[in-house]
Amino acid sequence: METNFWQKELEAIDREALNKLQLKLLKESVQSALKTQFYKTRLQKAGIKSADDIKSLKDLEKIPFTSKDDLREGYPYGFLAVDLDDVVRLHTSSGTTGIPTVIYHTKTDLDNWSDLVARSIVATGASKKDVFQNMMSYGMFTGGLGLHYGAERVGMTVIPAGPGNTKRQMQLMKDFRTTVIHITPSYLLHIGSKLEELGFSLKDFALKKAYCGAEPYSENTRKKLEKLFAIDVYNSYGLSEMNGPGVAFECVYKNGMHTWEDNYIMEIIDPKTGKNLGEEKEGELVFTTLRRHATPLLRYRSRDLAFIYKGLCKCKRTHRRISRITGRSDDMLIVNGVNVFPSQIEEVIMRVPEVGTNYQVYLEKEGALDKLIVKVEIYSKMFKGEITELDRLKLRIIDNLRASIVLTPIVELHEPGSLPVFEGKAKRVVDQRIKI
Ligand code: AMP
Ligand code: ZN
Repeated sequence: METNFWQKELEAIDREALNKLQLKLLKESVQSALKTQFYKTRLQKAGIKSADDIKSLKDLEKIPFTSKDDLREGYPYGFLAVDLDDVVRLHTSSGTTGIPTVIYHTKTDLDNWSDLVARSIVATGASKKDVFQNMMSYGMFTGGLGLHYGAERVGMTVIPAGPGNTKRQMQLMKDFRTTVIHITPSYLLHIGSKLEELGFSLKDFALKKAYCGAEPYSENTRKKLEKLFAIDVYNSYGLSEMNGPGVAFECVYKNGMHTWEDNYIMEIIDPKTGKNLGEEKEGELVFTTLRRHATPLLRYRSRDLAFIYKGLCKCKRTHRRISRITGRSDDMLIVNGVNVFPSQIEEVIMRVPEVGTNYQVYLEKEGALDKLIVKVEIYSKMFKGEITELDRLKLRIIDNLRASIVLTPIVELHEPGSLPVFEGKAKRVVDQRIKI
């Protein structure tokens, strides 16, 4: 198989040179982190007063971890390392409780991000000759704009379709001979199930590749999608705190995702002890940004579980590969690509005066898509009232939830005492989505 590169000198850099580069960039990141309100205190407490306190990559361990809660605490400007005049864009994370996390970018930061995405695209064998239909959300969610700018940088013909409206998506794919799409795996499965019903067949399309990410999926789902559409499906991993997509991506060999290690120092730690686990052992991914000027993040705990593959890839990229994301070390749920914490749901429903003391969250599959059902007990006097009153209450709860979690759940109202009672730790979330 032919290997194409976007920035060959960086992608195929030898390990020793990469380590040297990482150390140089880490020192720069620490220096700029020290300009932020948050790290000024946090790093000084850990005895790091300047970049000179970092003498080798091993010294990374002296730096305390940064968590999502830290980012929230620092909202809105606690992690900003440059003058606001130099910031050209900001993104906030999808579906987080109350206060979101915010990441700022300078022009150079966005340029670097686009290069990482361009590298990822080229690593899958795509090029400027391809027509790229981007079916991820544009806006605060980083999936849409992230791939968009990377694809333009490669010179692809970009169709900024965004998600939804399946018939129109297929029409676009047909009319413009789309060859590459970016989409959540569950939406692609959904499209697969609607193809014939909407009057299309595979022969209408010129599709060759799909970049699937934003939510966990299995190797079997990949195989199913590849067969259904007769295409190659590549796994794409990213998180808004590390820009978004373009953190790790599969190359043509599809044997793990290359993490761009000249931009991120990647560690796998034991989520309980914080100890570094090295390669081949599953643990939590921790990232340090190396080239982000506006919002440097040091040892950010992603809560995503994965392991690092040992050995080099046949494509000659030296950047190490991570496995699929196998789970989370917290209780975050991913519902049709959107992150939701159960605590967010609780916060919203418990603010509604009519809501009683018990609730449960159910996750099910409806076709290929996820269905979120929130069952809440309400005080019995409500059940004596008018049906329309109950409907209004239900709509109010749905509206409040939608405003907080950016998803529209199904809400069921139950009489007091009808939902399961837990004497120990409550099992609030019942996830009945079968792993496909
Ligand atoms: P966000 O910050 O909204 O971009 O969401 C990032 C989260 O989405 C990650 O921390 C992962 O939990 C999840 N995610 C993104 N890409 C993948 C992928 N390819 N496989 C599994 N989970 C993913
Ligand atoms: Zn490779």
